[in-house]
Amino acid sequence: MSDDPTIFEQIVAGEIPARIVYETDTVAAFLDANPLAPGHTLVVPKDAYERLGELPDEIAADVWAAVQELTPRIESAVDADASNVGVNNGSAAGQEVPHVHVHIVPRFEGDGGRPIHAVAGDRPDLSDDELDDIATAIEAGK
Ligand code: 5GP
Repeated sequence: MSDDPTIFEQIVAGEIPARIVYETDTVAAFLDANPLAPGHTLVVPKDAYERLGELPDEIAADVWAAVQELTPRIESAVDADASNVGVNNGSAAGQEVPHVHVHIVPRFEGDGGRPIHAVAGDRPDLSDDELDDIATAIEAGK
């Protein structure tokens, strides 16, 4: 555990109670304490990395394997019709706990929720040149 452990490190260490639903050497998953829907689950690497880009490749693979395994299990457990899977990656995106976590939020027909497209602000009006520049920068890893 780090010197200034995150809430999720404390859950993994058993210092804060949680309803843990999955655990391997590197990954844990537990029910969200303030669920957006029945079955809302958080999947975390056991070690604290703040942002997605900091995750070592093998840990990222372990986290995603857990998400894939758990998503149908969660949907089945709460009889959901679908789910949203997402990460608030950084405080400007709404991340409150500085420890990477994947939200799995079960969804139900007519639940009044919205798709993941609803999380961003106003849609930008980008020219073709701007889109080309963005694509080039991403591809080049700038
Ligand atoms: P974020 O905004 O960082 O993406 O989401 C953090 C999530 O962690 C929130 O959905 C919040 O309800 C959940 N959370 C915060 N503290 C605790 C806790 O002590 N236990 C559990 N199980 N979930 C927590």
